[in-house]
Amino acid sequence: MKLKLLVARAESTLEEALAARRAVEAGFRGVVEAASEVPEVSAPGWAYSRGRRQYLASAFVKLAEEARRARRADIALIVTSLDLYAPGLNFVFGEAMLGAGVVSTARLKQSFWGLPEDSKLFKRRLTIVARHEVGHALGLPHCMNWSCFMHFHNSVYELDIGGTELCESCWRRLQAAYGLSRGGLR
Ligand SMILES: [Zn+2]
Ligand SMILES: [Zn+2]
Repeated sequence: MKLKLLVARAESTLEEALAARRAVEAGFRGVVEAASEVPEVSAPGWAYSRGRRQYLASAFVKLAEEARRARRADIALIVTSLDLYAPGLNFVFGEAMLGAGVVSTARLKQSFWGLPEDSKLFKRRLTIVARHEVGHALGLPHCMNWSCFMHFHNSVYELDIGGTELCESCWRRLQAAYGLSRGGLR
């Protein structure tokens, strides 16, 4: 049995949400199955900090959790182009709790850093962050292995030297947590 993944978008293009959905489905092949709908949810105005010009990431995680319950999904991921922060951190690429997460595309774009757009690089970064947050939503902690997408990334530089796949030991952890058969893991 596969886990049902709901991808929703808040101030993000459908194209970006679909790219994240494809990346997550492929990254957790045999484990998650995405819902066909990609609902649009509105960004919580109260979560905006005027001083920081950013939104509080945890507000989007709560929003994802609400969408997950409403649509009877096992995991929900919100894709947003809004820049997110968490208390004590200048910014976050995403955030998650068990069952729900958010990914921000704001800093994954070269244009954010004053550089010419690079769609291939953007998609690679989005792949890593979307998979990483869904990994947390599935209960995976950070991984020490740099080539694993569950490694902690604190900058686009770290994302760009990081890997796009889940390592063997994280796969085994998932397998144990969900009682998945070997065949269910690729
Ligand atoms: Zn993390
Ligand atoms: Zn790992």
